[in-house]
Amino acid sequence: MGKPRHAEIAGAGFAGLTAACALARRGWSVRVHERAEALRTMGAGIYIYENGLRVLEAVGAYDAAVAGAPRAHTREVRDERDRVIAVHRWDVARVFSIVRQNVINALVAAARDAGADIVTGSEAVAADPAGALVLADGRRLAADLVVAADGANSKVRDSLALATRRKPLADGAIRLLLDKTEAERKGDGGVTVEHWSGTRRILYTPCSETDIYIALTMLDADAAGKATPIDQGAWVRSFPHLAALIGRIGERGRYDRFELIKLKRWSAGRVAVIGDAAHALPPNIGQGGGCAMMNALSLAVHLDRHDDLAAALAAWERRERPLTEHTQRISVFLGWPTTWPPVLRRMFFAAAGRSKWLTRQRTRTALHRPTGTRGE
Ligand code: FAD
Repeated sequence: MGKPRHAEIAGAGFAGLTAACALARRGWSVRVHERAEALRTMGAGIYIYENGLRVLEAVGAYDAAVAGAPRAHTREVRDERDRVIAVHRWDVARVFSIVRQNVINALVAAARDAGADIVTGSEAVAADPAGALVLADGRRLAADLVVAADGANSKVRDSLALATRRKPLADGAIRLLLDKTEAERKGDGGVTVEHWSGTRRILYTPCSETDIYIALTMLDADAAGKATPIDQGAWVRSFPHLAALIGRIGERGRYDRFELIKLKRWSAGRVAVIGDAAHALPPNIGQGGGCAMMNALSLAVHLDRHDDLAAALAAWERRERPLTEHTQRISVFLGWPTTWPPVLRRMFFAAAGRSKWLTRQRTRTALHRPTGTRGE
């Protein structure tokens, strides 16, 4: 038996950890470099749809990831007077709302079980297409495959000048977790509510037996809306009926502006770029993490199918890029109403809820059977 092929991965997020699991399970020796001192992600929730759940199953992380998370079944959209303006039912496929840290913990455990080494406090700064990852401490680590999974601000990607488009979008979000009240613990964990008022939105999502995930979204130009700690007065003025909920937020929350990233190619020589580093998108259909995990698993599958690395990377991109670009287009499109007057927005949501065509476009990614998963 020859020496196993070796991969150096930058970034221990959804993309890097999924790639680590998938490669290690296929016999690769794998080392992941995480810049942070601990394998901790931000305090927030995440929706993971059927496609992402299938990937978690395929890499051995599903049971631990969804433990204690509610299966979401209904999303209500409400206006500034708390009237329901649309109701979406998730009845054709699974979707869970989960505490992010639980998914990361599950992927870390699955990666280690498969034999991957994860090093914290290790920052990558560049990659050499000939096959090396360069660290901030000056070390140059040779590898058969280098994976840039270091997120939207990827230094590794930028060292290869692969980005053709990096567009900050008009809106962003403050995300946080709240402890459930007694009443919330007894409530239906599968119902999420999207409250709109002007260009501001409060997304309320139960995401474990003890946590509620809150996302406040607003225009990036809305200085009072995007301030952290949140400007309680400004938010209560927009949502007087949610004053008690807003009052629970206190000092919590981190603001991130949405952005869109496209690359010339997803690889250069022996370096593959995955996740937000390759294709960040706004979260309007909750598929950034889903695409990151699908493309990470598919990368390992294609490297297994082809002896020649260049041929594997080309086949991988040819296979996965069209769906990722569809997901980016539909996510950007569903963000447009944010800047529209309330009347138009209400009409849009009502029509969107009834449109079979739009529902098909919106759910295409969720219903896709990812490469390397059961029944694909
Ligand atoms: P990241 O999660 O950013 O992970 C990158 C990792 O690399 C981090 O651990 C970071 O510390 C590390 N790192 C960074 N630089 C370096 C370096 N130089 N060297 C070493 N390590 C480095 N997606 C969904 O699927 N469902 C949702 O419901 C959803 N909701 C969202 C809501 C909001 C408001 C936003 C902004 C995004 C949302 N997303 C959602 C998108 C999702 O969060 C991202 O697509 C996903 O986190 C991308 O994973 P990643 O591993 O590519 O990058």
